[in-house]
Amino acid sequence: LGGRISHAIQQMTNATVIDEKVLNDCLNEITRALLSSDVQFQLVRDMQKNIKAIVNLDELAAGHNKRRIIQQAIFNELCKMLDPGKPSFTPKKGKPSIVMFVGLQGSGKTTTCTKYAHYHQKKGWKPALVCSDTFRAGAFDQLKQNATKARIPFYGSYTESDPVKIAVEGVETFKKEYCDLIIVDTSGRHKQEAALFEEMRQVSEATNPDLVIFVMDGSMGQAAFDQAQAFKLSVPVGAVIITKMDGHAKGGGALSAVAATKSPVIFMGTGEHMDEFEVFDVKPFVSRLLGMGDWTGLMDKLQDAVPEDQQTDLVEKFMGGNFTLRTMYELYQSILNMGPLSQVFSMMPGYREQMIPKGQEKESQAKIKRCMTIMDSMTNQELDSTNPKLMNESRILRIARGSGRQVKEVMEMMEEYKKLAKNMKSVIPNKGNKNLLSQNM
Ligand code: GDP
Ligand code: MG
Repeated sequence: LGGRISHAIQQMTNATVIDEKVLNDCLNEITRALLSSDVQFQLVRDMQKNIKAIVNLDELAAGHNKRRIIQQAIFNELCKMLDPGKPSFTPKKGKPSIVMFVGLQGSGKTTTCTKYAHYHQKKGWKPALVCSDTFRAGAFDQLKQNATKARIPFYGSYTESDPVKIAVEGVETFKKEYCDLIIVDTSGRHKQEAALFEEMRQVSEATNPDLVIFVMDGSMGQAAFDQAQAFKLSVPVGAVIITKMDGHAKGGGALSAVAATKSPVIFMGTGEHMDEFEVFDVKPFVSRLLGMGDWTGLMDKLQDAVPEDQQTDLVEKFMGGNFTLRTMYELYQSILNMGPLSQVFSMMPGYREQMIPKGQEKESQAKIKRCMTIMDSMTNQELDSTNPKLMNESRILRIARGSGRQVKEVMEMMEEYKKLAKNMKSVIPNKGNKNLLSQNM
């Protein structure tokens, strides 16, 4: 889904004139992508209608603004699709709440239960875990191991086969112990699917949870809507957690899950480790879905990866919006040393494919070194220039001679630079306004 949407937008941003046809093409492509990802037809149609209503081409001024506005309209609509209109039930510290986790086997329920408990424990809650998965051998051991590691009390049985009985006993036990967040992990598979949903219904009825969380694998594609809906029909799902967002998945299924359950996504899992768990934030998620790079994440990453005294420098470089040859030089240097810049840049869409194509790591490195030799023969003016016309024939000849490379190679490098600079412009907000993306888009 994400790939197709970003492709559609890419096509649009590459077109020099944005007219009705370009807009329609773009909307059609996005529509197809969303539909093929099982997002509710009604929702897709609404999005298309809304965008057409917002983007009145005749009333828009220059082409640049049109692009911006179309992009923004699509962005806003996708954000809306992730907002069911009402927040989920939020447990209150000190007041006992029961939270039941449901989802298919392998979606990440047991892992996510522990993450959810650990997250709240760090904030001063008293969570507890109940294992009512009696179907899968080893389910209780897994939960026990996770819980022990996180020092969270747990309840389960090796011998009892009735999930309802265990769930009820566990909940009662921890209520008596004044736990304020009692988390019930459930089974995800059954001999027959109908039996799974019946079991979920029974556990839910017997424990009367304050919140039922549907856990979904972020790479779940077309089946997302039906799967989410099936759970919603059996139990009162009130929130969604998307897991495995550290992989390749862009999480397009989240749109379907929200549509099917009419519940918001509240967290996402970003790794197997207990701390790899984040509060779900719609805007960066949609940025990522659209291939615009996770701007918020990028800034966080920058803070983590770069020594404090270098941060302002780097931020300046990005925010200034001027991707000069010197910036490229520093980027290359950083890539060769695996320095902080390379970590930061690796979060940008298109970066990897363009700089270091898969299977060509060696050649790419050699090329980068060659380019740096060429840039070593440039003047400061040339390195810092933002004027693309500065590099005339005589300068290119001089640089080629000075670096001992061919004119063709210098020109190739300049092409590379232009591509990269353009790519950078599409990701980095202009003119020193680092909040542009998060505020306006
Ligand atoms: P369950 O069957 O729904 O209880 O799923 P599990 O919690 O047992 O998880 C299935 C697999 O997915 C395990 O190997 C987990 O380590 C893994 N997993 C769960 N969440 C994440 C995540 O956010 N990222 C990654 N990379 N792996 C995850
Ligand atoms: Mg499990």
